[in-house]
Amino acid sequence: MSAFLKLLFRNRLAALGAVVLGAILLLVLLIPVLPLKDPNATATADRFLRPFSEGHLLGTDHLGRDLLSRLLHGTRLSLAVGLAAALIAATIGSAIGIVAGYFGGRIDNLIMRGVDMLMAFPYILLALAIVAALGPGLMNALIAVAAVNIPFFARNIRGITVGLAGREFIDAARLAGLGHTRIIVSELLPNVLSTIVIAMSTTVGWMILETAGLSFLGLGSQPPQADLGSMLGEARAALITAPHTSVVPGVMIFLIVMSINLLGDGVRDALDPRLRSGALSRPRATTLVDRTGPVPEDDGKGLLALQQLQTEFHVGKRVFRAVGGVTLHVEKGECLGLIGESGSGKSVTALSVMGLVSSPPGVVTGGAVRYAGEDLLAMRYADLRQRRGENVAYIFQDPLATLHPLYRVGEQLAEAIRCHHKVSESETRERALELLRAVRIPNAESRLGDYPHEMSGGMRQRVGIAMALANDPDVIIADEPTTALDVTVQAQILALLDDLRRERGLAIIFITHDFGVVAQLCDRVAVMYAGRIVEQGPTKAVLAAPAHPYTSRLIACVPELGGGRRELAAIPGLPPSVDDLPPGCAFAPRCDKAQTACRQGEIALEGTGPRAVRCLFPEEAV
Ligand code: ADP
Ligand code: MG
Repeated sequence: MSAFLKLLFRNRLAALGAVVLGAILLLVLLIPVLPLKDPNATATADRFLRPFSEGHLLGTDHLGRDLLSRLLHGTRLSLAVGLAAALIAATIGSAIGIVAGYFGGRIDNLIMRGVDMLMAFPYILLALAIVAALGPGLMNALIAVAAVNIPFFARNIRGITVGLAGREFIDAARLAGLGHTRIIVSELLPNVLSTIVIAMSTTVGWMILETAGLSFLGLGSQPPQADLGSMLGEARAALITAPHTSVVPGVMIFLIVMSINLLGDGVRDALDPRLRSGALSRPRATTLVDRTGPVPEDDGKGLLALQQLQTEFHVGKRVFRAVGGVTLHVEKGECLGLIGESGSGKSVTALSVMGLVSSPPGVVTGGAVRYAGEDLLAMRYADLRQRRGENVAYIFQDPLATLHPLYRVGEQLAEAIRCHHKVSESETRERALELLRAVRIPNAESRLGDYPHEMSGGMRQRVGIAMALANDPDVIIADEPTTALDVTVQAQILALLDDLRRERGLAIIFITHDFGVVAQLCDRVAVMYAGRIVEQGPTKAVLAAPAHPYTSRLIACVPELGGGRRELAAIPGLPPSVDDLPPGCAFAPRCDKAQTACRQGEIALEGTGPRAVRCLFPEEAV
């Protein structure tokens, strides 16, 4: 709740709306104790007194009634009627929407066609017709305004419910034996509640206006009772001679509706889960770089090199050190494996390279990323964007999430190509075909016209690889590209990447949690734990003689076919949370060799040649 309020008041306009509306509400609530005159007491001698007259702060109307008193009483009535209408419309409309969306089929059809019929009448005419049938009066105006707004809620909520009703958690609730009512109340309602509140907050102002409109026409509040609409209606005749009688209620209506709308927009932004992460804290085009220390010098190592890279997430007062000083490099034609348990910081490392970590909350706080010697972190955004895809490309774990569901794969490939090169339509198509063939997609020609959902997982991942290859990059960063695939397809994809590396001299950083994959594909391997490299070296050497206890435990976790029965190893305990890392070795709490010295002070990554290990008591000397 406090997070919601904080988010809400960060929006200046919403805060302004809240203050104005709060002041109006306060005034209205204080009516019984304020020294107000009787709003309906007439005094024909004092007709049309100007504002600031003796005893009448805002003047009087055509019957000599005190305008201030009428204004406050009228505001109270208008607010009450508007809010009541909104509540009624929201309750009935949402109930209709949920029922229609949940049951679907014929019930849905029947209900929604009824709602459509209501919507087929012009809005205000329908309200007029209802009041005409029921007879003029504030209560009937309320009913009319609520009734014409029911379809709005019904349609909105039905749409969301239809999407939710087919989801697994509803099926699970059904399988658990819950009845329809329980499912609607305990499973569906909480999920649509924020939408209902959002829809309400954006329509209350509208409903107050509609009620005022009906009163203005003499169909709402009846004399002598004042509401804002009837005050305006009565002042109409004296619009020129005594303008203050119309200005006073007019300004109040303006203030109420403006403040409610501003506040409503703010509430929507703060509540809407889609906007919550987006609209208010719009991620920057590239990760924020805020390096406090000196930038490491270029040491000329590798085509792509990370030097002491530090990436953190600043969430409120907490700092998550996801990447805590990572140094690694790849040469042309080389494959470097980056391995570690889930949560060890592999993805954040990879995304930091091209400034793809979303900011906020991500911040690069130190180190450098050098592509051919140039520091990518210091680069202007336009230059960095030029290099994304063109020089360094990514393959992600879930191809279904990275491919656009509504475009054919051919179009998406073409877009990737056109993004960096001005080529003709037919050339692009040729190139797209060539790419699909390069990643060994059978019938490439007909596959160009497929949508992502028409392909299998392995096929989609090949398209992902094809897109990464589209601009002939020099470096490919593959973030667990085979984790979602079955073993046979995984083997094909690995073979494909290996071929591409040999044919095109690609440098690959291959991220995985599986030492089996590393053994198959990578020349060198870097083992990551809690945001730092704990061991690195040539794959063969590391596999044959792991030095860090964590590495040897990881290797022991790989099952061996035909290796006879043995107990499958697991590493006890969990990786530490990176917002509260222990001093010394982060693996110490899970390590059976840990000693007191391991828990004190910084442990350096030491070694000779390409091998290095960050351990005081390594299993093997390196
Ligand atoms: P993996 O090695 O599985 O790819 P990640 O690089 O995705 O791990 O995550 C590294 C660490 O960063 C994790 O501990 C994760 O909790 C943390 N992290 C990732 N994204 C965020 C975020 N937006 N806010 C806070 N912490 C994050
Ligand atoms: Mg990851």
